[in-house]
Amino acid sequence: MAHAARAWIPMANRTLNLSENLYAYFQSVSLRADPILEALRAETSNLPGAIMQIAPEQGQFMHLLARIAGVSKALEIGVYTGYSALCVARALPDDGQLIACDINAEWTAIARRYWERAIVADKIDLRLKPARETLEDLLETGAHGTFDFSFIDADKENYQLYYEHALELAKPGGLILIDNVLWSGKVADVDVNDADTSAIRELNQQLHDDERIDFVTLPLGDGLTITVKR
Ligand code: SAH
Ligand code: CA
Repeated sequence: MAHAARAWIPMANRTLNLSENLYAYFQSVSLRADPILEALRAETSNLPGAIMQIAPEQGQFMHLLARIAGVSKALEIGVYTGYSALCVARALPDDGQLIACDINAEWTAIARRYWERAIVADKIDLRLKPARETLEDLLETGAHGTFDFSFIDADKENYQLYYEHALELAKPGGLILIDNVLWSGKVADVDVNDADTSAIRELNQQLHDDERIDFVTLPLGDGLTITVKR
């Protein structure tokens, strides 16, 4: 119930709730037109898993972050149709590399088409097998401490394992991004205890107390945590 004496309450000390109208405005002034990304979003929107694709503002953010950090060697766990990989690959220098992990040949075939179109395909090394195996291969071949950037966005039940491997693979000062950490709000609902929600909740708590990293959690997209290896 509204109170007559409180016509306007400033909300400056907390994160805004975005109404549909404000969200549309935010996108209109923050997103740059990008025909390749827009075509990839349109093609993906017809697929059953379209909801899994990151929001466009998150893609623009990850691109800028990779630029700011001077990322040259990157890892992605969970490619789908290649949107986040494309945003990151475009930030890499000519001799940069993104190792991309997924198990789905059909979705990543779409990804490859758009990577070709954006002229970043040569920088992306797609490894089609369970991400756990690719991470073990990397660790066995001496890639410890060599990655500038990792993005974790595959099966949530393995998030903890992916994080531990990504942390071993990261350089000191390297970034690890973890997606969906707010999981449509389910992490805050004590009545939701399915395996995915519980795995995300446990990792969120672990990261909070993990002295190997500095970190921030942003309410961007479905919640994005950025960790920096100490
Ligand atoms: N980052 C993507 C979205 C990823 S969706 C984007 O921005 O569009 C999650 C992906 O994880 C799916 O493509 C799925 O095939 C993949 N995946 C699920 N289990 C996996 C596993 N064990 N190893 C590697 N990839 C997996
Ligand atoms: Ca995601």
